Formats: sequence, structure tokens, C-alpha cells
Amino acid sequence: MLYNNKLNKLQERGYRMSTKPKLSMYWASSCGGCEVSLVNINEKILDLAANFDFYFCPCLLDTKKKDIEALEDGEIAITFFNGAIRTSENEEMAHLMREKSKILIAFGSCSYEGCIPALSNLHTKAAHFKSIYLDNPTVDNPHGIVPKTETEVPEGTLAIPAFYESVRTLSQVTDVDYSIPGCPPEPKQVWGVIEAVIQGKALPPKGSSLGAGNSTVCRECERKKEDKKITRFYRTWEIIPDTQACLLDQGLICMGIATADGCGALCPKVNMPCTGCYGPPVGTLDQGAKMVAALGAIIDIGEKKGLSEDELVRCVDHIIDSIPDYSGTFYKYSLAGSILGGKRG
Ligand code: SF4
Ligand code: SF4
Ligand code: SF4
Repeated sequence: MLYNNKLNKLQERGYRMSTKPKLSMYWASSCGGCEVSLVNINEKILDLAANFDFYFCPCLLDTKKKDIEALEDGEIAITFFNGAIRTSENEEMAHLMREKSKILIAFGSCSYEGCIPALSNLHTKAAHFKSIYLDNPTVDNPHGIVPKTETEVPEGTLAIPAFYESVRTLSQVTDVDYSIPGCPPEPKQVWGVIEAVIQGKALPPKGSSLGAGNSTVCRECERKKEDKKITRFYRTWEIIPDTQACLLDQGLICMGIATADGCGALCPKVNMPCTGCYGPPVGTLDQGAKMVAALGAIIDIGEKKGLSEDELVRCVDHIIDSIPDYSGTFYKYSLAGSILGGKRG
């Protein structure tokens, strides 16, 4: 507020406002990690400031919604929109930022695919409210009060945004130009996109992913892949994996095979399986379905030849039962944007 007041006074005295193109970053249902990712471009932030008027970012700046509403349509050159659409406020801001931005980019997995918040799509809004506000042992709520959009108080009506029945991606509520995948996107990839804009490079066709490659994490991973067959899957705490061999070959569910490249295979580099945060590779409609299909090809029941059909089914069931959480494993980041979209059975 103080900053805006000062700006207004400067304008009143005839000072010219910045003529640099405006850049903004908005968070919807988000954890704040995407803002950290932007800050993690380190000293390049000075180049960003030299080339853009960093105009709106609720996490870092005090610009208000009314300041955005006062802009001409398309006056913001680029908006990085992170976070999923969970509330009416998220949706309202998505439409506003679309209107005011030349280029609207779904920044990070929440905005691009729903990410962790969208795993809540497996349950109803009523079930969430029950577990958060009514059954939660750490909440003292003797009158069973749950949030509602309007509450009458002596001073008038208090209003809060509506909590939607399910989480949506940015492109499910408005027109999006590009996406930058990742949870959060890798800073060097973020800077690569900003630098391309600064240098006036032609951007790829609308709808493309920026800061990601055309292949999979496996392409960036230096582990030795032998396409071994596996007889069961392991949780990460159950084995200490070999540091050179492919993690999937060792029975750890590594989503690298069904995930777009761009991060530099960060997780396998530190002996952890990829959990899929860069989303589906180019041309893949559904990341979870691709991974399930890939696993189908590596499950080994060959040494148990001669088994009856029932015994074979039990064998396959046993292997599948060693996968702990199907949605959280195969759709950890992509449920809202997947074919399932979080349909409840
Ligand atoms: S994409 Fe990841 S880092 Fe970014 S807001 Fe969502 S959960 Fe946080
Ligand atoms: S499955 Fe995982 S560990 Fe194996 S090559 Fe691909 S990214 Fe590397
Ligand atoms: S290895 Fe997978 S989970 Fe890890 S940062 Fe890369 S895409 Fe994300």
C-alpha cells in the first residue's frame, strides 16, 4: 500500500512510469514453491528487472487487484500463473489475468495439471469439510461450523471465496498460451524462457510446453537401463538401490519413462525415483496410463510357467498389490489434467 501511495504521488508530480513491458506472477491454489523457483534464478533476477516492469506478484509485491483491473486489456506482456483452480477467487483471477495479459503461461504443475491439490478430486467437497472441520482431532469445533461463502455479522455480510467441488487446471477454465511444467519448474528452464522473450526469439506454437524437452526423463538419466523383468515393486525405504543401475529395473517405480524431460533427471541422480513432476511427454495424453502400460511390459511371471489361469491371476495380483497407492503413484501431479480427471467411482 505504502509503495502504491508513493507511486501515485510520483505520478501526480509528473514522473513517468516505467515504459518496460509488464511481467506478473500470480498464485492460485499453490504452495509458494513456484515463486521460490523464480527467485532461484539468482542474479538473473537483475536482468529480469532490467528488462521488465515486475508489476504484480502477491507473494512479493503489494500491487492490488484494482491496479490490475485498471490496466488496458493485454497490457501485461507475460503472466506466470501458478497454482490450481480450487476456489471462485482462483477462477476470477484466472479470467482477469487472461484478459490483461498478452501471454498467459501455466507455470508449474499445479497450474498445468492440478498437481498435489488435484489428488483431492478423489473425494467430495463434503468429505473434505467433514475430515478437516468436523472429524479432525486437532480442531475444537463443538457447533460443527464449516466454511460458507456468506456469513451475517452485526457489522454486515462477510464473504469468502467459494470452495469448488473439484480442482481444475488453468487451461480448464481459460485460454492458456503456454505451460512451463515442473513442481516447481527448474530455475534454469524458467530463465531460459524469460531470456528467449528478452532476446525476441520466436516462441513455439501456442499450446506448447516451454522449458521441457520432446523426450522423457530417461533420456537425461545416466543410469544403465537393461529392461530387466521384475517380480515385485518396492517402496523407497525397502531397498538401498544400486547407484548406477536403472531404478525401475530394481523394482522402484520410477516415472521417468512416462515423464517429459527438462529437469536433468534430478531425482534419479540422487538415487530417488522420478515421481513425474514434469508431466506427460509430448504426444502422451495420460501420464498415468502410459506408466501403467510400461509396467505391464516389465512384470515377470515367466519363471512360474505351468501355472493355471487362476494361479497366474493371483501372481499378477500379488505384484500389483506391491504398488501402494495407484493414484498417488501414477497421477501424483497429473490427475486433474488426465483422462480420468479425478472421477470418483
Ligand atoms: S507446482 Fe509444486 S511448487 Fe509449484 S505451487 Fe504447485 S506444489 Fe508448489
Ligand atoms: S526409469 Fe528412472 S532410473 Fe531408469 S533410466 Fe528412466 S529415469 Fe533413469
Ligand atoms: S526426476 Fe522427475 S520428479 Fe524429479 S524433478 Fe525431474 S521430472 Fe520431477
